[in-house]
Amino acid sequence: MKEMIGGCCVCSDERGWAENPLVYCDGHGCNVAVHQACYGIVQVPTGPWFCRKCESQERAARVRCELCPHKDGALKRTDNGGWAHVVCALYIPEVQFANVSTMEPIVLQSVPHDRYNKTCYICDEQGRESKAATGACMTCNKHGCRQAFHVTCAQFAGLLCEEEGNGADNVQYCGYCKYHFNKLVFRPLESFLSLLTSLTVPDSCFCVHVRVCGLEGLTDV
Ligand SMILES: [Zn+2]
Ligand SMILES: [Zn+2]
Ligand SMILES: [Zn+2]
Ligand SMILES: [Zn+2]
Ligand SMILES: [Zn+2]
Repeated sequence: MKEMIGGCCVCSDERGWAENPLVYCDGHGCNVAVHQACYGIVQVPTGPWFCRKCESQERAARVRCELCPHKDGALKRTDNGGWAHVVCALYIPEVQFANVSTMEPIVLQSVPHDRYNKTCYICDEQGRESKAATGACMTCNKHGCRQAFHVTCAQFAGLLCEEEGNGADNVQYCGYCKYHFNKLVFRPLESFLSLLTSLTVPDSCFCVHVRVCGLEGLTDV
């Protein structure tokens, strides 16, 4: 099993901020690190902190994400008594958080069956055929592309993005297959912000590599 990408298990950013620190789980053998805002930690304790999985004392073998085949990472309870990664919840469009501040429980009832029937092309490519059909898949955000993949497989491969949504402070979580990700035009933060105030719509897809946490920090100003 591949280790989680360094930094935050949700947004992958390795930086921490005073108002949004990276918090590390003190659970035995647990590698979870999350930003306060990425995991919905209302108040960071001064003493030890435990992710929900470590806190639950549930047998590790029983704790598996309903949306993907990967076991490590930052999980939360789902409304049907299971578990799911926060990152899987953010990137599967129909998934919601019952409470948006605490980001739990994760509500799966609106996820269409179709997502559970898709197979992950990244699992397939990497010889994990038995896992490819586990959980639910997101699809490449490029219009017309039908490639489907697990959120965490895309996260490990560095294919997840946050893009401009409909409103100025609205972030759309999306991902691309490797082919379309490599064709993306990456724009620095300044041009992203100027885009928000201009009427120009770029004809190519653009991806701002501003992490969610960074954006939230900015909109607070
Ligand atoms: Zn984060
Ligand atoms: Zn933990
Ligand atoms: Zn997952
Ligand atoms: Zn996969
Ligand atoms: Zn694609």
